[in-house]
Amino acid sequence: MTIATIADFPRERLAHLPTPLEPLRALSNHLGGPQIYVKRDDCTGLATGGNKTRKLEFLVADALRQGADTLITAGAVQSNHARQTAAAAARFGLRCELVLARSVPWRDPGYETLGNVLYDRLLGARLHFVAGDVDRAEAMRRLAERLRDSGARPYVIPVGGSCPLGALGYVECAAELLAQTDAQGLSPDALVLASGSGGTQAGLVVGCQARGAAFPVIGVCDETPWEAVAGAVRPIADGVADLLGAVADIDWGRVEFLDSYAGPAYGVPTAETVAAISLVARLEGLLLDPVYSGKAMAGLIGLVRQGRFREGQTVLFLHTGGSAALDAYPSAFVNLEP
Ligand SMILES: *Cc1c(COP(=O)(O)O)cnc(C)c1O
Repeated sequence: MTIATIADFPRERLAHLPTPLEPLRALSNHLGGPQIYVKRDDCTGLATGGNKTRKLEFLVADALRQGADTLITAGAVQSNHARQTAAAAARFGLRCELVLARSVPWRDPGYETLGNVLYDRLLGARLHFVAGDVDRAEAMRRLAERLRDSGARPYVIPVGGSCPLGALGYVECAAELLAQTDAQGLSPDALVLASGSGGTQAGLVVGCQARGAAFPVIGVCDETPWEAVAGAVRPIADGVADLLGAVADIDWGRVEFLDSYAGPAYGVPTAETVAAISLVARLEGLLLDPVYSGKAMAGLIGLVRQGRFREGQTVLFLHTGGSAALDAYPSAFVNLEP
């Protein structure tokens, strides 16, 4: 594959790049396994950061090129993607309309007012709460139609910004990450990340393989079954390879999906999620999140404890952000001992 054409795509700078690649020494020592490094995409800098910012650089550029004046997107109520989209819209003087689905069975009183929802409001987005089972793409289409009828020029960003254009951001991230591992003299044995709507993992798979990286890219799924996540990742990876004019010979043998840390439902942290979040907070002073990166870290810890990785190996963990949602989940942490 070749990535010669990525610079041809319009892009608006939103992220603080490169994000750091840092060793998690205390966590690595505690687990007694591989050396774990964290790629800090929680530090992309846009209204508390996160992984959607890299995708939005390409999506917002496309919206501006089309003359849009409004960004529409959708997600769960505590969507980090929605919050980053609201911030990107604010930055470029665009209006923002968010379809927020009540899909998560979580009952903390602040779930619909704190965390990402508070930031959405601060950033000036208009919020449309809908039932959890509403078809989000259809809801966005209808909203776009309504706005068009009233003279607006809406641009619809798919859930999670997960489409080939958005995934270009993670093709770039792969290049950035591999330059950092080279510079630090690391030879990674795996890359572990939280995977949901699929754009992040898809971009990383294409970006890593295009640069000849042989290690597996392991997506810890935010919900079960893993086939649902794989079914999202695969067409986006094929699409982004296609966008780049790359020969689409993706080696799916080096792409893994792990759904045994997802728990009973999307957006619901398990005891293992809470344990992983508190362990990393206490050993590293690093905040994960209850929906994605906490589950992904629980997955990584589980893999180390099962002996999948051993001493002397190097594992990269992509921190995709999301700690803004912690404020909506106080009851998950209320029983933690100091
Ligand atoms: C959206 C999100 C993910 C998942 O990324 P996808 O590209 O949707 O698979 C992971 N972590 C956090 C914190 C997110 O907000």
